[in-house]
Amino acid sequence: MIGENAIEVKHVSKWYGAFQVLHDVNLTVRKGERIVICGPSGSGKSTLIRCFNRLEAHQKGDITVNGISLHNKMRDIAEVRRKVGMVFQHFNLFPHMTVLMNCMAGPMWINGVPKKEARDRAMHYLKKVRIPEQANKFPSQLSGGQQQRVAIARSLSMQPTVMLFDEPTSALDPEMVAEVLETITTLAHEGMTMVCVTHEMGFARAVADRVVFMDAGRIVEEGRPDGFFSDPQHERTKLFLSQVL
Ligand code: ADP
Ligand code: MG
Repeated sequence: MIGENAIEVKHVSKWYGAFQVLHDVNLTVRKGERIVICGPSGSGKSTLIRCFNRLEAHQKGDITVNGISLHNKMRDIAEVRRKVGMVFQHFNLFPHMTVLMNCMAGPMWINGVPKKEARDRAMHYLKKVRIPEQANKFPSQLSGGQQQRVAIARSLSMQPTVMLFDEPTSALDPEMVAEVLETITTLAHEGMTMVCVTHEMGFARAVADRVVFMDAGRIVEEGRPDGFFSDPQHERTKLFLSQVL
């Protein structure tokens, strides 16, 4: 529905023991919106997006995903995880399963999709990421870029409404970065709601509706890419951009 929010983060704080990793974070991701999060290492980017599918719990404030509030006593956590796909820096494929099975396992075992339908669906998404010919190989037989595209296909096979990417290209050899960014760009152009942590500023410029800059557990600045890159407001943003651009 137009105008509906995919993710709402309100006054969220989080601690690891005595260390406060997130400070009063506020962020709204509208359906169909593409957000890029950037910021120095250790600024809390991964922690924040891992809170969106409850891989991490926050201690203060509210997070709502597709209208479901994430809190301690929730019964809907599985529902949230089914609808929020996540792609990690290090692919995290199942090494003992073929590419095809990597993409069939979730739909079959978590969503109860019949085997034939799960296979058709997996092949559909492997075609979308342009590696259907790799279906019967094992992850270790693929290049890093191919493995990351399998990870994207595997996530898509669960038919999520939101995709989270945590530095999806930062573990790749340089020559493989483009093919993965291209795949994510295609999804973005098809209207997928996405939050992508990345330092690929060319990608951010081309794809993001909004760029969010984090430092030391806080959102320091956010804006449309044109303004964010040409006229950053905060010293910390300027310093960061001078290092990554
Ligand atoms: P980023 O993704 O921006 O590099 P992270 O969210 O991974 O940042 O980490 C933010 C801070 O929280 C860092 O100081 C990191 O050392 C710390 N941290 C991350 N995960 C844990 C954990 N499980 N336990 C304790 N500290 C953590
Ligand atoms: Mg991180």
